[in-house]
Amino acid sequence: MAGVAILAWQGRKAEKVRIAYTQEELRYLLEESRRKGRVGFVPTMGALHEGHLSLVRRSRQLDETVVVSIFVNPTQFDDPSDLERYPRTLEKDIVLLERERVDVLFVPSVEELYPEGFDDGDAYYRAGRLAEVLEGAWRPGHFAGVMQVVAKLLRAVQPNRLYLGQKDYQQYLVLKQLVERHFPEIEVVLCPTVREGDGLALSSRNVRLSPQQRRDSLVLYRSLLRIKAGCERGEPLPEALQSARALLEEAPSILQVDYLVVCDATNLSLIFDWEEAEHVIALGAVRMKGVRLIDNIFVKGALC
Ligand code: AMP
Repeated sequence: MAGVAILAWQGRKAEKVRIAYTQEELRYLLEESRRKGRVGFVPTMGALHEGHLSLVRRSRQLDETVVVSIFVNPTQFDDPSDLERYPRTLEKDIVLLERERVDVLFVPSVEELYPEGFDDGDAYYRAGRLAEVLEGAWRPGHFAGVMQVVAKLLRAVQPNRLYLGQKDYQQYLVLKQLVERHFPEIEVVLCPTVREGDGLALSSRNVRLSPQQRRDSLVLYRSLLRIKAGCERGEPLPEALQSARALLEEAPSILQVDYLVVCDATNLSLIFDWEEAEHVIALGAVRMKGVRLIDNIFVKGALC
């Protein structure tokens, strides 16, 4: 009862979200919405947290209709055990989406999106260098799978705006390029990374961290902050990077640093001097036993 009162006080009414399981149902549910105004779309793999919900809220502010998809896409997983262990919490996700007054939830099956199998016509979008560096180098085929599923989802939803999180910044750049080339009518909106109070970027995979790993995970964000501090006080970039890397190497749970780099945020080219780019981003990826963490921050000239 108290919950209802609070929701009413906030001027919100938690209504049942309409759920589409097929593209045909989705088309039917969105027919009228399109006439009413803009459709915003937030694609997710579920196990929703405040990071996902921040994208939903941004769309709720800007669009008349908010569509969320939940689909754990097999073609973007380079590690079968990661796919198998990916958290699935649909019932809870629906409650969260209803609280945010999401209009339509699209929950397709694998067969619905891949009736011809995984090696279909959408498997061949190319992103060039953008998809080959950093995550692309460590997770072969990952971005091809991401582009494949997002192209399908965009054709199914036909949104006016697509919302993506800074947490997966390289994914944002790859998808922005896909949209510019193949879906130019869609606007891409980048939303800032949402973090725990102590700085850990929210991620559906964080539930897998042991207490020790959870403590050590913070060092990734700290190392990125160390780089930013170096930029702000005019320390040479290679020295800032070296100190940041030393922080990562001190954490006992971190088994491997896949990368820790400073790049031009517009194209992910490595830079060696802060002045080489107007928008500078630091990105890192580390491996712990059973879980891999990625994070990034804008060091200069934030783009969201
Ligand atoms: P996922 O469910 O991991 O595929 O993520 C769906 C969308 O949510 C992607 O655009 C992510 O970048 C975004 N996202 C995930 N975690 C966060 C976060 N901590 N802050 C902001 N956006 C996020």
